[in-house]
Amino acid sequence: MNHLIAERYHDISCGHRVYQHESKCAHLHGHNYRIHFSVAPDVGLDAIGRVLDFSVIKFQLCMWLEDNWDHKFLVWEMDPWSTILKTLDERGVVITPFNPTAENMAQHLAEVVGPDLLAGFNCHLTAVRIEETRKCSASYLTGRTL
Ligand SMILES: [Zn+2]
Repeated sequence: MNHLIAERYHDISCGHRVYQHESKCAHLHGHNYRIHFSVAPDVGLDAIGRVLDFSVIKFQLCMWLEDNWDHKFLVWEMDPWSTILKTLDERGVVITPFNPTAENMAQHLAEVVGPDLLAGFNCHLTAVRIEETRKCSASYLTGRTL
């Protein structure tokens, strides 16, 4: 069976520290993330032949990134540094329920953030891909197509 998806990406700058990472990513640092959203229709294309208007991805998903992660610092709630970092920059530090690897960030967007933001638009995420650098990315596939 064939499937159609619509895709859009968004770029953000974001800090993180990966707790218990073996090398560089254990430090406080950041990346210029490129985050790709792949969306499929719930029941088929709309009357003029779209999965959805690309602006829906922009105003729902990309704006969520702008509001919540862009120019913020992600730190895991189980990271022993989380409390002190939050004290240093209360609005700039985002405590996450996951260790902020690209993989976990992609899963959170696909399974927690996306379903909420796309409710009512007759579509759903099939994948979220996060480029941590231009050479390295992680993809989370929701397992849902049509
Ligand atoms: Zn990193």
